[in-house]
Amino acid sequence: MTSFTYDGLPGRVVFGAGVARTRLRGEIDHLRAERILLIGSGREGVLGAKLCAPFADRVIATFTDVRPHVPIEVAERARAAAAHADLVVSVGGGSTTGTAKAVALTTGLPILAVPTTYAGSEVTPVWGMTERGRKTTGTDRRVLPGTVIYDPELTLSLPVDLSVASGSNAMAHCVEAFWAPRRSPVSNAVAEAGIRHLFTSLPAVHAAPRNLAARGDLLLGAYLAGSAFAVAGSGLHHKICHVLGGRFDLPHARTHAVVLPYVLAYNLPNAAHAADRIGTALSRPDPVAALRELSEKLDMPTGLGELGLTRAHVDAVVDDILAIAPADNPTPVTSAGLRALLRAAWSGSDPSRHIT
Ligand code: NAD
Repeated sequence: MTSFTYDGLPGRVVFGAGVARTRLRGEIDHLRAERILLIGSGREGVLGAKLCAPFADRVIATFTDVRPHVPIEVAERARAAAAHADLVVSVGGGSTTGTAKAVALTTGLPILAVPTTYAGSEVTPVWGMTERGRKTTGTDRRVLPGTVIYDPELTLSLPVDLSVASGSNAMAHCVEAFWAPRRSPVSNAVAEAGIRHLFTSLPAVHAAPRNLAARGDLLLGAYLAGSAFAVAGSGLHHKICHVLGGRFDLPHARTHAVVLPYVLAYNLPNAAHAADRIGTALSRPDPVAALRELSEKLDMPTGLGELGLTRAHVDAVVDDILAIAPADNPTPVTSAGLRALLRAAWSGSDPSRHIT
């Protein structure tokens, strides 16, 4: 008999082509917001200003200094810009949403998020910030955006390499949800649906980046992925990527894409249920091979060596990962097992062959 605890997360989602243009004002009215801090940089900043133009009198400040991984000094400047605001509107990818979350964390201000990538951060209560090169993350419901406007039209401009990397990061959220600490039948169902959407839409967007229907399907997969990650939490895969990314300043999404098939291969022998569900969602009996082929189809790097790491680099993080590895990972995480996993991920060798 199944037993579980599931903490559902609140939030309103408005999804559809063109909704950023047609629904943003109505959603802001619904929130009765009168003093908006708009966060967005570069092209997304310009987009945000355009979207807010019909109610520009309500935008009391604009913050454009978004940086990857939210350095603490950026968070502090954004908080200062929010001094008289009653709503934060973020328009951009995970770094922009992350900046809005840093503001909400200390001010308690509500967030309306308009994502322009497939990161999924907009539906999670997870925040992250960096101080002197060290990334800290935490979970706090105050940072969960109350409203999310998903408009696939806004993702048409995302370059294809960033699109497939960001979408592969979403795939990692879904796959890992099957053994993450707060997994449940609910998160499993959401993750499985996410995998189906991502597996078909990623190659479609790669082949035709201006295909709005494929962009919509990828964005829906990313939303499901973020939702599964938000409730199930992070497991071995995310811990490995967190340590590697923090230590060597690696590109976040590409690191996830490389590492995922190796963690899957490591865990599958002891995670029959996950193997079944992931295999079903991928319509393939061998999910490791399916993910590997997907990466190749998307021209993603297959080894950490391609991201600039040496074998000594990956050997050097074994102990750090071991220290935070989840105790209930399906396959017990040993020093030798982790080293083998990382070396294989570094060389890009066939994931299903090396790990026993
Ligand atoms: P990003 O936000 O850093 O954006 C990557 C680049 O894409 C930037 O140069 C940005 O300007 C550009 N860009 C964004 N949207 C665009 C568009 N539509 N057209 C053209 N260019 C566009 O990258 P990301 O992958 O979205 O986010 C990564 C960050 O999000 C990481 O810091 C990661 O830790 C965080 N993240 C957090 C969570 C969470 O739950 N807290 C979940 C996933 C990712």
